[in-house]
Amino acid sequence: VKPPPVPAAVDLSHHISAESRLRQQSRLKMASSYLTRDPSILSLAAGLPSPALFPIEEVTARVAMPQAEAARSGVWKGDGLQEGVTMEFLKTKRCTELGKSEYDLSRALQYEQGTGSRKLLDFLKEHTERIHHPQYSDWDCIMTGGNTHAMETVFRMLINPGDYVLLEEFAFPETVDSLRPLRPRLIGIDVDEEGMRVDLLADILDNWDEEARGGKRPHLMYMVPTGQNPTGATIGTERRKKIYALACKYDLVIIEDDPYYFLQMPAYVRHGTSPSDGTVPVPKTNAEFVASLVPSMLSLDSEGRVLRLDSFSKVIAPGTRCGWITGAAVFVERVLRHNEVGLQFPSGISMAVLHGLLVEAWGQDMYVNWLVNLRAEYTVRRDVILKAMDEYLPSGIASWTPPAAGMFVWIELSYEKHPRHGHLSKEEIEMELFEAGIAKKVLIMPGSWFKAEPEKLSRAIFFRATFAAVPPEQVRAAIRQFGEVVRSTYGVE
Ligand code: PMP
Ligand code: PLP
Repeated sequence: VKPPPVPAAVDLSHHISAESRLRQQSRLKMASSYLTRDPSILSLAAGLPSPALFPIEEVTARVAMPQAEAARSGVWKGDGLQEGVTMEFLKTKRCTELGKSEYDLSRALQYEQGTGSRKLLDFLKEHTERIHHPQYSDWDCIMTGGNTHAMETVFRMLINPGDYVLLEEFAFPETVDSLRPLRPRLIGIDVDEEGMRVDLLADILDNWDEEARGGKRPHLMYMVPTGQNPTGATIGTERRKKIYALACKYDLVIIEDDPYYFLQMPAYVRHGTSPSDGTVPVPKTNAEFVASLVPSMLSLDSEGRVLRLDSFSKVIAPGTRCGWITGAAVFVERVLRHNEVGLQFPSGISMAVLHGLLVEAWGQDMYVNWLVNLRAEYTVRRDVILKAMDEYLPSGIASWTPPAAGMFVWIELSYEKHPRHGHLSKEEIEMELFEAGIAKKVLIMPGSWFKAEPEKLSRAIFFRATFAAVPPEQVRAAIRQFGEVVRSTYGVE
């Protein structure tokens, strides 16, 4: 029996903003498509500089090779890298052979389509298919300059001034800074230890009063479902399904900004084996790893209402300035029109090196090996910071939920136990601790800096600490120092 055909996305083009509707196809790019169809055509069209005049003759990149899946023992000892290989990129095209890239510099240094490099994009689509299994037929991917760029692009595609937009009550500051010039009205939804509260989301949508609010019910939600920045929270499968059901009921488009998806970790065992011995469990097979990941919003989406933003920043390197958007073809086409007049495409050198690394040196399975190793490395670091917090932060004053993904721990400090509560506001106490921290040579981010609605009163005193930026020994030292700051401010031993 043939499986039933996969349906196409629901037509959600009514969400597209007035600005985005005005974008037209680039006539230059349209003309170039004739050359792709018939390479014998002689072109006097686009002003492509001659590759002979590119003064970069050769690029070599030595890349790490992650240990093969079969060699994994089930315990991480920080030994996941094998001998690297050197990839050479020349101007001339060469036959494929490990180390000699087929991605020639004449191509890499030339103008490219607004989708980004076709071959790299094909790899990313295959990866997306393997991990997220999109459930409708006309999904597509397009390359971006990372998630900051992708966010700005999709916000401009979907927001008209005055629109209400939903997001977590605490957000990545660049998200809010990117939204502000588009003049939406932001609604921050309170979070608990599992992220955005679906009961509050339902309450807002169910009881929307257009007159009282002076505007239509929100049609857009931005969320960071895994290892949220700054709260570190990861939304579980059941809550994701409820959020998606609400999105369908109320015709919301969801922007899933998910740079920490692969940094999902095993549960933290308090007072368990000493993390400093560097042993954390790792899945024996890649299939086991992939199956352990919480389903993305994209993977739950049967209607084409999720735009998923992936970035290489946290899994390869931020300086690649490369990522991709996955979503319904109608939206991806609008992004392409925007890319043509903005980013154009990510840097050719960056795409060539990523192609050499991902497509030629690694391939799909070895990329997953890399991700397995990487999340083990972050697990070691997370366990170090959590152990240091248990040791150095005063219990009864400081509390937190061990993060299950990402790079951040969100620490709450008691307001009532502060000696000057009632006299100082929560924000003032955060600033007092922030400054005392700097005097003690530890920099930690006050929670109120992440508020989606800065004018709203703070619910509590929060700080965001990352365990990604400095080596584990320094993380311990920094937490010890922060612990001293908290103790002396609160007047406890
Ligand atoms: N402005 C003008 C006047 C141009 O001729 C070109 C290239 N044809 C561009 C901008 C685009 O330049 P870039 O490749 O730096 O985006
Ligand atoms: N989105 C979130 C939630 C982030 O935490 C970050 C990085 O800090 C970004 C986007 C930026 O990512 P990129 O480097 O891909 O622009």
